[in-house]
Amino acid sequence: VTRHRIEDGVEKGITSTQGLIAQGRGEAFDYLLGERTIDSADAATRAAAAHLLLARHPVLSVNGNVAALCPGEMVDLAEAVGADLEVNLFGRTEQRVQAIVEHLRDHGATGVKGLAADARIPNLSHERAKVDADGIYDADVVLVPLEDGDRAEALGAMNKTEIVIDLNPLSRSARVAAVPIIDNIIRAVPNVARHARELRESGADLEAIVEAFDAEATLADAEQVIRSSSAD
Ligand code: ATP
Repeated sequence: VTRHRIEDGVEKGITSTQGLIAQGRGEAFDYLLGERTIDSADAATRAAAAHLLLARHPVLSVNGNVAALCPGEMVDLAEAVGADLEVNLFGRTEQRVQAIVEHLRDHGATGVKGLAADARIPNLSHERAKVDADGIYDADVVLVPLEDGDRAEALGAMNKTEIVIDLNPLSRSARVAAVPIIDNIIRAVPNVARHARELRESGADLEAIVEAFDAEATLADAEQVIRSSSAD
């Protein structure tokens, strides 16, 4: 089903052919993790929800794979935490940005950002640096599922709190994130929304959850799960 969604995304002009390669890499890591949400990833997801709820201006970044795999879930998460959605592509073309904006609108999104592209992330080449001035550029907390390493690093250097969803605990994006979620976006995105709603309803101490989170231990745990699974 997942592969078919990505294929469909390529046919609709939403997902790039590079996205097919990213999907294959993701599947390999998911297989090694047992295609489940490990406990440390669930804890990271909860910390991510706390960050998003505490944020002045949270933004959820959407690329071609995210749009193909979980568009409705991203719209629901944006609603749960009061975040903006912004289309943000590695291989940006206006046509593809437009196709993804429309796809998100078909799934209930309003006011999707990414078309203005009137600000730049410092220290990146022109096309890859484009963001909206009132979107990612202004955000204090950004969720970037499947981000490429260079951009994740450049965003982190802008003093933003970066939440990365990536199945590879060794990828640069996961390693530079304040909160790395080592899980499939298909499971992680609805899980962040569920945690956010639960945290809000229970009146939990969000600052304490953020403080207690340990990114390095999270990466080490995922790596350990992968290594022990491949040794079985
Ligand atoms: P980096 O540049 O961060 O060091 P990379 O070059 O491997 O790593 P990309 O090719 O830009 O990164 O992105 C692909 C990443 O997305 C891979 O790490 C892959 O594991 C991950 N990925 C692919 N599909 C999913 C998915 N459904 N859920 C979570 N992560 C995924």
